[in-house]
Amino acid sequence: MDIKKNNAGDRFRLKKPSGGMGVDNAPEFSEWVEEIRNQNTAYTLETGKTKKFKIEIFGCQMNERDSETIAGMLTDMGFEEVSKDKPADVIVFVTCCVRENAEERIYGHIGALSGECEENGSFIIACGCMMQQSHVVEKIRKSYHNVKIVFGTHNIHTLPQLLYRYITGKKRVFEVWEKEDKVVEELPIKRTDKHKAWVSIILGCNNFCSYCIVPHVRGRERSRDINDVLAEIKVLAEDGCKEITLLGQNVNSYGNDLGEKDLFARLLYAIEDIEGIERVRFMTSHPKDLSDSLIEAMKTCKKVCNHLHLPFQSGSSRILEKMNRRYTKETYLELVSRIKAAIPEIALTTDIIVGFPGETVEDFEDTLDVVKKVGFDAAYMFIYSPRKGTPAAKLEQDIPSGVISARFKKLVDLQTEIATDLAKKFEGKSVEVLVDGPSKNNPEMLSGRTRSNRLVNFKAENVNKGDTVYVDIIRAGAFWLEGRGGKKLG
Ligand code: SF4
Repeated sequence: MDIKKNNAGDRFRLKKPSGGMGVDNAPEFSEWVEEIRNQNTAYTLETGKTKKFKIEIFGCQMNERDSETIAGMLTDMGFEEVSKDKPADVIVFVTCCVRENAEERIYGHIGALSGECEENGSFIIACGCMMQQSHVVEKIRKSYHNVKIVFGTHNIHTLPQLLYRYITGKKRVFEVWEKEDKVVEELPIKRTDKHKAWVSIILGCNNFCSYCIVPHVRGRERSRDINDVLAEIKVLAEDGCKEITLLGQNVNSYGNDLGEKDLFARLLYAIEDIEGIERVRFMTSHPKDLSDSLIEAMKTCKKVCNHLHLPFQSGSSRILEKMNRRYTKETYLELVSRIKAAIPEIALTTDIIVGFPGETVEDFEDTLDVVKKVGFDAAYMFIYSPRKGTPAAKLEQDIPSGVISARFKKLVDLQTEIATDLAKKFEGKSVEVLVDGPSKNNPEMLSGRTRSNRLVNFKAENVNKGDTVYVDIIRAGAFWLEGRGGKKLG
């Protein structure tokens, strides 16, 4: 039952229940939900307690968004969410396989919970990208007996059914769909925040960068219908949401699989008309697909924030070819010039890989050159980590680890210097901040983001999470701005 074959098809909507369990031998999604909810209600009536769940999230924003759906389904089933430091009956691990050390940490966390699971009678559900790999599922089956349910990225919506099967059958349920299927609309969702929200617009990726496992575990591109996306954003706006981040592995190819040209740009224009939404962000953009019409839309749409995450990965055209990125150092720099010419106040951030097999001193110098020429506000820098099943994993790593570490340090130092210089320009200025709540490091301060996505920590009276305020910046470092004030807008 582990890896299930399934057929890709059109999107489908969850149907309302048409009758009792077992009608046509095919209960609907909501019937599974209702079954578990009834069991949880009976448990509460009997014990006076509520079954609890918590979610451990690893990896990217797609996992954060998936976790909101998982939390929504569990809440609808009558479970109550608790914070990570509290005991729970059900512990969900939303996993990531993009880097080896993330995988190792996840095994470590799951293993460390075996005593707690035994003591409390709780169990673990493991899902997400790691579970799309059969060797991982086998390892979990053999070595991690506290994991009772496993599912993958393509069958999140089957959670209620899998949970029902585990609870009633008392046998571990491992079900991972091998292929992507339809886009499932109208799943329940429990949003983390009210003032800002993730909105998925496209699932999967067709790019097959040679080092990347994502297309292998998240499937091919499937765009959501623009009407479904806009309807979701309208509901969010009516509920007080001010900022949305449109999500996809490659948002620039939104609509390509539907035969729709420039649909992403059209989506941005359409969101302009939604009252209540103040800020629109999106990620991630692939440089090869960032069209002039999209740059024009970013420039024209007032709600689109002046921030663009544009991964370049390596500054060497030779390495970019080996990575199958389908652009060169020169075309990347030209693209950046066009963006800066259209939107001079744009803040650019990026991803960079150091130590890809075969990277020479000259290749690395090209990477430093791009960093210097572009002037990124921030960069996510990684040492290359081979991922089983990708073409790059077959390449021999010919660079000594000490050399890679030295290059990595040099890059981090350069980027930190550039980011600090850019941040210093904010000192003495007033910036618009959407408040996220108390600062994680100093609860006496508030924290929020500028439109250019800079983190701002500040002290202010009578300012709350979700407020949009002006903050006077008094100090700046590479990764933060510090301010005071907090004059409310409007
Ligand atoms: S664009 Fe490349 S790096 Fe990004 S998810 Fe797709 S294959 Fe991976």
